[in-house]
Parts: sequence; C-alpha cells; structure tokens
Amino acid sequence: MSRNKSCFVSIDVEHDLRDGERTFAGVENLNSLLSLFKKYNISATLFVTGEVLEKYRNLAENWSRNYEISCHAYTHRYWNTLNEKEREEELQKFLELYQSIFQSKPLGFRAPSHIIDEEGLRLLEEKGFLYDSSIVPHYPPFKKYRGYTGKAPLSPYKLSGGKLLEIPNSGQLLGLPLAGTWIRKLPLAVYKFLFFVRKPRFLSLSMHSWDSLHADFYWKLEEIIKILKKNNYTFLNGKQILENRG
Ligand SMILES: [Zn+2]
Repeated sequence: MSRNKSCFVSIDVEHDLRDGERTFAGVENLNSLLSLFKKYNISATLFVTGEVLEKYRNLAENWSRNYEISCHAYTHRYWNTLNEKEREEELQKFLELYQSIFQSKPLGFRAPSHIIDEEGLRLLEEKGFLYDSSIVPHYPPFKKYRGYTGKAPLSPYKLSGGKLLEIPNSGQLLGLPLAGTWIRKLPLAVYKFLFFVRKPRFLSLSMHSWDSLHADFYWKLEEIIKILKKNNYTFLNGKQILENRG
C-alpha cells in the first residue's frame, strides 16, 4: 500500500434550531464530540460562525489549542441571498473579531450550506483566505443542491488563475457524503460496503456542532473513524493540507 489516502476532517460550528428556537445547544455540547477526536488523536478544522466566536470566546480559545479555527461566515445567512457588499461585510466583521481573539488571520472558509459561486471565491481571495472548502464536487443526484454546480475535481486543487486552494467535500461512491446527517441516517453497513468496493484517494468527513446532540451519532462516527483507520487514511485538517502542498 504505497498510495497515500487522506481524509479532511471538519466540523461546522453554528447555531441550531430546537423547537423552532434558534439556540446554540450544539456549540455548548461540542466538547463531548471533540473528546472522540481526542481519543483518536484527530485534529480537525472547526468552521465557526462569527456569532459563535462572539458568544463563546472562551470555548473557541480552548478549541484553538488542538484544532484549526476557520471561518463559516458571520451570521450563517446563505450567500445566494446576499449581494457583494453584504458578503464583504460578513467576512470583514468575522476577520476583525477573529484577529482580536487569536491575533492572527483564519486560513480557510466554508460557505453556509456550501452555497458559493465564482464571485464569492474571488472575494475570499481578496480578503486573504488561503483555502475554501465549500464546493461539493459530486453531490448525490437525488438531493437538491443550491451551491456550486460546475464540474470540480475530487481532490484538493488550486482554483484557476488564483492562489486559493479548494478542499472539496468529496464523498464516497455516487457522491455519498461522509457527513453527520448521512452518517446518522444510513445504516453503517452501507458505508462498510462502500469502503469494501472503493477507497477514494481523498475524502471529506464533515459534521455540524448540532450532530453532537444526537446520542446515536457517537458510536456511528467512531465506527466510521475505525473504518477509515483500517483503510489507512490519514486524518488532516485544512492547515495541514495546505502545508503538505508546500
Ligand atoms: Zn453551516
């Protein structure tokens, strides 16, 4: 086995909806999910919203000791509903807050609900981001997707003409995502079968802070981690993927 296989691990850390109320219960419970990462020595990227940084500064400072903290916009409004100026404000406000907490700039960005377009990617580059991880390159054909719809590579690649690295949200066969909701809803046997059939060179394992509120997510995520380990995947965060590319 000489072929290197890698898995980008990330969590979108944002508000959740409980009985129609906008709460942050998943954020407050995130450490329980992170303890599973600790057990397997996995350093993920946390894409946090500005709202989370604002409300949970102490938690974010603690997370930053072991995890890469990147940007998930400020308010989680979808970018297809925002004009250029509003998008710019979302980023600027986030960058200022981030700088005041961490005395540094975030490296990466993930658009709320993965909704990104060419203009959005250009704006990220202008604002000094080094990577984006919004594009879903092969979304399952049976699921409606409002984001980027162009053809896209399945492994990290430089976006044309620019410096921005795209770390795509690549899934298994048929684009089946290794993502929280899917992991919770599909029988584990489906993933076991997929890895028996195919071991993609690059995969994205992603979840949300609110997945941590579902008790049955933990054992399933642990099984997925075990499958990936058994198949010799290296777990990487966005910063490590950037560094590996030199
Ligand atoms: Zn989100």
